[in-house]
Amino acid sequence: MTLQQVRIESLLAEPVLPERAAGWGASCACDDSVWPDHHDRLLRVETDLDELVELLEMAVTWGELDWSRSAVVPPHRWVDFALCHSWADPARMERIFSLATDVAARSAAGTGAPGV
Ligand SMILES: [Zn+2]
Repeated sequence: MTLQQVRIESLLAEPVLPERAAGWGASCACDDSVWPDHHDRLLRVETDLDELVELLEMAVTWGELDWSRSAVVPPHRWVDFALCHSWADPARMERIFSLATDVAARSAAGTGAPGV
């Protein structure tokens, strides 16, 4: 067996894992990683204003739109999400996610939709 054959066999034996664009959720084992796309978007809320706006829009519309078939971290998990992850400013992120949770609860209460 040549060295090239050994290398090819070892490459074939290694599992091929898909790469993730964001990369953050791939190594996270938190309860919210079952929603990997939204999980990673929530992780970007601290550094990406568009993601912060998306979070607040989701909170405002939580009671108006049907999110039941969407693969999103639900509002009742947002404060725990903030507490379970590392942030540059943890206190600010807890305030943001607490505010968003409160907005979603008020949105749901105002429409009679299921709570957060
Ligand atoms: Zn996580």
